[in-house]
Formats: sequence, C-alpha cells, structure tokens
Amino acid sequence: MRAPRLEIDLAHIEDNTASLVGRLERRGIGVTAVTKAVRGNIPIVQAMLAGGARGLADSRVATLAAMRRAGVAAPATQLRTPMASETAQVVAWADTSFNTEPVILASLSKAAGHAGRTHGAILAVELGDLREGIMPEDLPAVLACAMSLPHLQVRGLGANLACRNGVVPDEVNMAVLDRLVGDCETTLGHPLEVVSGGNSANLSWALHTQDVGRVNDLRLGEALLLGRDPLDRRPIAGLHQDAFTLVAEVIESGVKPSAPWGRRGETADGPGEAPLDCGPIAQSILAIGRQDIDPEGLVPPDGVAIIGCSSDHLLVRTAHPMVVGSQLSFGLGYGALVRAMTSPFVARRFMGRALLPA
Ligand SMILES: *Cc1c(COP(=O)(O)O)cnc(C)c1O
Repeated sequence: MRAPRLEIDLAHIEDNTASLVGRLERRGIGVTAVTKAVRGNIPIVQAMLAGGARGLADSRVATLAAMRRAGVAAPATQLRTPMASETAQVVAWADTSFNTEPVILASLSKAAGHAGRTHGAILAVELGDLREGIMPEDLPAVLACAMSLPHLQVRGLGANLACRNGVVPDEVNMAVLDRLVGDCETTLGHPLEVVSGGNSANLSWALHTQDVGRVNDLRLGEALLLGRDPLDRRPIAGLHQDAFTLVAEVIESGVKPSAPWGRRGETADGPGEAPLDCGPIAQSILAIGRQDIDPEGLVPPDGVAIIGCSSDHLLVRTAHPMVVGSQLSFGLGYGALVRAMTSPFVARRFMGRALLPA
C-alpha cells in the first residue's frame, strides 16, 4: 500500500467530537470545530460535524474557501485575525472573524458593504497569554469603533490562552472575560450572541469549574483529533488518542556502526550532536522527512528509536534489521500531524465508517 500515508479513523474523530459535545452541552457550551491542523480535509470535517460540532473555524481563509467550495455549509469563522490584504476574501468565505485591530474592522466593513452583506465580528480580548487580543482597557474604544461600522455586526467576545506562553485558563482569567462581556453588553444594550472562551486547553476548566459564566462556545481542534489536553498532552478520559497513524516504508536496512567517521562539519540541520559510540546497531532508513513530519512529534512503536532525521530521510534503530519494503507505524503529536496533513507527499487512507459525501 502507498507510503508514506496517514491512516485516519473517522469513527474515532466523530466519537471524540460527540463525547465532548455531549459533556459541554450540559454546561451550556457548544463546540466549534477547528480544522486548521487537518487543512480542512473534507472527510474529517464531515466526521466532526456528524459528531455534533455546530460550526467550523480555521486560521487560513484559503482553507475556509476550500471547505465552502466542497459544499460544506456549516457556519465558518476565520480564527486568525485577518490581514489587511485579505479582508475581501474573509468577507466572502467567513461569516465571522476574530478581530483586534480597528483598521481591520473598518476594512472588513467596507468589503462587506461592497459584497452586499454584513460580516460578523468577534472581538478577541487579551487575558494574559500575550498572543492576539485587545487589552481590556482598550476594549471600550475598539467596541465603539466596531459599533460605528455599518456593515459589521459585533457578535461576541473571544479569548485564547495557552498558546504563546502556556497560560492556563482558570477561575481568575476567565472571570475577567465574564466581566468584559458584561461591560460590552451594557454599551451595546443587548446580550452578546457568542462568548468563545478558548481552545482545547480550556476543556479542563470548562468541565470542572463550578460555573462557566457566560462562555457558550469553545473552539476545539487538538482534543477532537488527538484526544489530548494541550496543557500537559495527557489523554482526555473517554476519548481516542489513535485516530491518526503515520506509516512509512523502509528503503535501506542493515547493521552499521553507531558512530560516524571522518572530519565532521555541520549536519543537514545545523551543528549536530556527537553521536555516542555503542557499537554496531540495526539501522533502517524510512522514506519520509522533515518536509512531511516533525520527528520530535512522532511516537515510534515499542522497541524502535528515532535516531536521526533530515528533510527526506528518517532513521530508526530497531532490535533486529528490518526488511526493505516493510512499513512501520507511528503515533503523532499535534506538530507532526499538522505537517503530515500539509505535505503533498503523504497519502491518506480513511477508515472507520463509510465515507460521507461532501
Ligand atoms: C488553533 C486555535 C484554536 C484551536 O486550538 P486547539 O488547541 O487545537 O483546540 C482555537 N482558537 C484559536 C484562536 C486558534 O488559533
């Protein structure tokens, strides 16, 4: 069978989604499925929707456009705050976008006016992780700007933690979001439709805190796909961690010395570490590399160790030499999954249920 390839269990992705949708529903929270790690792959998106996700979100407008063109009708949100140079596309392909910059809000409103539509805006607020977000003290001014724009509708507030600095969502920072929601509603004179509390790192808070306050939406990617909590990468109880498996093929195999010989300069990836000499080892080369995966994010099978990687070769040590042409399966972390789903050199094999039409 073709290699390298990703084996993708759609039933496990649907199960993961249905499980979290059910648990969060009891807390008044809906799930927006984040499609960026799988580049909007249609069978996977359909599995997330079949599991009960009520909308889709992606950082890249090109991916939102591709999903729409493929016939996916679910509400679409642009997660990464738009570039000035793409506001017309964002208005064309996303119903709603996350925003922090008045100049972009103005550009979106203008583009929406040209297109004869109204664009939804979620104002992203800074809660301490220091990636995107309006500083709380600046929110009144940005809200006033958004309210003054004719083709823009302020749909809600959003927050994002645990990405740049790993700041953990807790009672303290999430209470700040709640307070800001109240302030905005006083200014607007009506309730906000969406309060998007965060990403997969918010799950532990959302499922265990006494009161989720006004949060009524979470944007989930990693938890649905890999069944793990990004805060510590531990498995989330009741979810599958094995929806994705990477298979690569052996192109050279044999016993080689563990230490190189000859004068050494830099390696393909910069200054290398001096390899330990532990005598001859069974070494195999797999036909896959950094262009397709992040080797640090691969989980080899028992008894196999990753000992090197260049842009197109992955080296493993095994107990016994492998047969050329045989294939080896790996688990994937988020970074490895992102790259494997983005590489045109990695084939896909879907399993787990009859493929749904787009
Ligand atoms: C990527 C992203 C998410 C989804 O994050 P996961 O950890 O995969 O759930 C949510 N919100 C924003 C703004 C993002 O950029």
